[in-house]
Amino acid sequence: MTKYVYSFGEGRADGDISLRDLLGGKGANLAEMSAIGLPVPPGFTLTTAVCREFYDGGGSYPEELSEQFSTALQSLERQMDKGFGDPSNPLLVSVRSGAPSSMPGMMDTVLNIGLNDQTIQGIINQSGDPRFAYDSYRRFIQMYANVVMGLDGDIFEKLLVEKKRCKGVEQDNQLSAEDLKLLAEEFKNSYQQALGSQFPEDPHQQLWGAVSAVFGSWMNQRAVTYRRLNNIPSHWGTAVNVQAMVFGNMGNDCATGVAFTRDPSTGENYFFGEYLVNAQGEDVVAGIRTPQPLNKAKYKDDDLPAMEDVLPGCYRQLVEIRNTLENHYREMQDIEFTIENGKLYMLQTRTGKRTAHAAIRIAVEMVSDNLISEREAVLRVKPEQLEQLLHPSIDPAAEKNIIAKGLPASPGACSGKVVFNADEAEEMNRLKHRVILVRVETSPDDIHGMNAAQGILTARGGMTSHAAVVARGMGKCCVAGCSDLKIDYEKQLLITKSGHTIRRGDIITLDGSAGEVMLGDMPKVQASVSGDFGTLMNWADKYRIMKVRSNADTPHDARVSREFGAEGIGLCRTEHMFFEGDRIQAVREMILSADLAGRQKALQKIMPMQKGDFIGLFREMKGLPVTIRLLDPPLHEFLPQSDNDIADLAHAAGIAFSKVKERVEELHEFNPMLGHRGCRLGITYPEVYDMQVRAIMEAACELVKNEGYEIAPEIMIPLVAHVSELKVLRKNAVRVVEQVLADYAVTVNYQIGTMIELPRAALMADQIAMQADFFSFGTNDLTQTTYGLSRDDAGGFLPSYIDSGIFADDPFVKLDQEGVGQLVKIAADKGRQTIPGLKVGICGEHGGEPSSVAFCHRIGLDYVSCSPYRVPIARLAAAHAALQDE
Ligand code: ADP
Ligand code: MG
Ligand code: MG
Repeated sequence: MTKYVYSFGEGRADGDISLRDLLGGKGANLAEMSAIGLPVPPGFTLTTAVCREFYDGGGSYPEELSEQFSTALQSLERQMDKGFGDPSNPLLVSVRSGAPSSMPGMMDTVLNIGLNDQTIQGIINQSGDPRFAYDSYRRFIQMYANVVMGLDGDIFEKLLVEKKRCKGVEQDNQLSAEDLKLLAEEFKNSYQQALGSQFPEDPHQQLWGAVSAVFGSWMNQRAVTYRRLNNIPSHWGTAVNVQAMVFGNMGNDCATGVAFTRDPSTGENYFFGEYLVNAQGEDVVAGIRTPQPLNKAKYKDDDLPAMEDVLPGCYRQLVEIRNTLENHYREMQDIEFTIENGKLYMLQTRTGKRTAHAAIRIAVEMVSDNLISEREAVLRVKPEQLEQLLHPSIDPAAEKNIIAKGLPASPGACSGKVVFNADEAEEMNRLKHRVILVRVETSPDDIHGMNAAQGILTARGGMTSHAAVVARGMGKCCVAGCSDLKIDYEKQLLITKSGHTIRRGDIITLDGSAGEVMLGDMPKVQASVSGDFGTLMNWADKYRIMKVRSNADTPHDARVSREFGAEGIGLCRTEHMFFEGDRIQAVREMILSADLAGRQKALQKIMPMQKGDFIGLFREMKGLPVTIRLLDPPLHEFLPQSDNDIADLAHAAGIAFSKVKERVEELHEFNPMLGHRGCRLGITYPEVYDMQVRAIMEAACELVKNEGYEIAPEIMIPLVAHVSELKVLRKNAVRVVEQVLADYAVTVNYQIGTMIELPRAALMADQIAMQADFFSFGTNDLTQTTYGLSRDDAGGFLPSYIDSGIFADDPFVKLDQEGVGQLVKIAADKGRQTIPGLKVGICGEHGGEPSSVAFCHRIGLDYVSCSPYRVPIARLAAAHAALQDE
């Protein structure tokens, strides 16, 4: 026979925490607390199996349930020495939902079940307090109507207000027992009018009504949506707890409270909590009265007496329970308790939610307290939580003046002067002003401005809009899709829905973690991997197998990466170097040249600058491997598009406008993502790649020769589809490399490899490996080309795909392991068939996303590479993956 009902109560329980899936989180912890001897009001749990069978059976309960239920209720009555529905000595219970994983959206708790016109007399006699009894009664009617029957609480609130007005009082607690009794009557009448049925007087009907409402709420829209967003399978089901009531509202030796065994915002090891005398349920969190502190460790306010003074005995007991719970669960707990006539009861315990900062401190301190091992500490902190710590953030103590809200597109906080176009952002930045680039939306033309800005604010676009994706890649703060803004480029101002006008040059602050826009320059706190954070990261490094590199284009990015623990650069995008300052002129000259000689002349100008960049990068990386990708984007991205800008360029280059215009048109492509880019440029303009390879190798040789560095450059050729492409380009590169090495007469350990970012390359990786010293998966392009989906154009439909669940996740954020990931695995395996031990890594944005990192570990990649700010996330994710493997 299946056991559907599990009892618990002081000193004993049928179940324990290992049955969490069956008893739900709340039920399993009530059982566990009972079993370890903590004072828990007795009760019983209907298992998640009941919920499952309820839905499988089309809304009817398993046959054995009603008998098991009755037996459990009878034994509860015996234990409490009261009768459910017994007018002279009534037992009241609560019905509490509790899924295996905590779930907002489920039905709320119903307290005081069992009250009716008869049992209320028993409560009055027992408590000697008719006011308390009727207060509980009217609350119960309202709660039942609201939670179980879905009736809006407004009609009851109105009656309450009306009653207070009639009586000429202000506060609820100034109403007399008689007033409350009449109010309860009025509530019942309203109930009947609104719902067309009488308020159920029969306690069993009340109880089953509440139980059914909990099971019913498993499938309500809020719960379904929450599960979808959090990947909770719907077949888990919820459990229901029925528990004897204890009363925190029967007088001044009664109280109710909530506490954390350690401070959830800082992680400090001190007992943090609040309580209220003479209160019930969630009065503490509901904000009806100002809650009072448990102890005086942090508060010194005599107006709010601490529990340690008011109820010292109970406080001492609570402190003991705190220690018991921490030693038992070896984890910070979030607890709920109630005191009835001086007796303490535990109503809930669960793992406490905490900030990232607190999570780290608690994990590290629990290791020094010998509560957990280093491995456990590493596993206790979620990689994605670290995001909070890796960007500057707004000083929590500062008062915010929020003027608009948008999407939290890229985390961090930044302040600067508002500018409305990319060129101006760049110009202002050159003049050492901090700026915020504000655009209706951004495009690839704005990259230089985004790069120059502290942060980006857009009025349109979602989490995968150009602005959002690029900003995240750059580790720059971004608030996107801020529809509260009306941007007027003409007048160079924006107007917010809240009525603020912000002009060019005004200072604003963005919080990209919250999606908030604020007036003025808010104070910030900087990120660094030190203290407990550093300790935890060192532990993580001990356990991970994969290496972690960063995607860095500049010495500054390289330095940040190293500070965050990067073990090399996995992707340096050389084109970013082409955009900077006066180089763009030379680059344009090169593109506009009619012949090879002209191009070479222009390349001569660029070469020393590129070499300088590489020297800076190598120096910063102190001998760690650096993968440099040769030019990738189509040439037209370097040319101006508007006639005005074309005219400027023509003038500067001393070429006729028509000629420039012609060239711009010539380079126009219908589908540049699949156009003349990547290695295709290297094939048609070999002199460009030759120049780059020369710059890389000369930089390396100079440092080796003059400064004694060990340098391991890895030259990476993008967008290869066919081994023949790589064969040609490799040969060209080797020729240049050998020349340079001969000229400098030094040896440098270089490698020439390729990006795998086209499905054909993945499928033909065994052949491609014959020409490659390493593979690096460019999973951004590989996702685009596998899905046939342009990331820049996906904004129009991808969000609705995700909202409607057609795609579970944005494949540009989380690697599509089944599809794109399969290609990655095929390519890695095939490459290693040709060259055993071939070095294989990934350098797409996915390299910093924890589930994608775990995937890379599972298929045996050597490293992941991600934006500098995500390096610690990747390190921790790689450690988790390795530990979970064990
Ligand atoms: P939630 O999941 O929202 O925390 P709970 O089931 O914990 O809901 O109920 C909320 C509050 O109701 C509890 O913190 C407690 O104060 C009160 N409560 C629930 N059951 C009882 C009970 N049997 N006796 C007294 N108070 C109870
Ligand atoms: Mg609640
Ligand atoms: Mg609770």
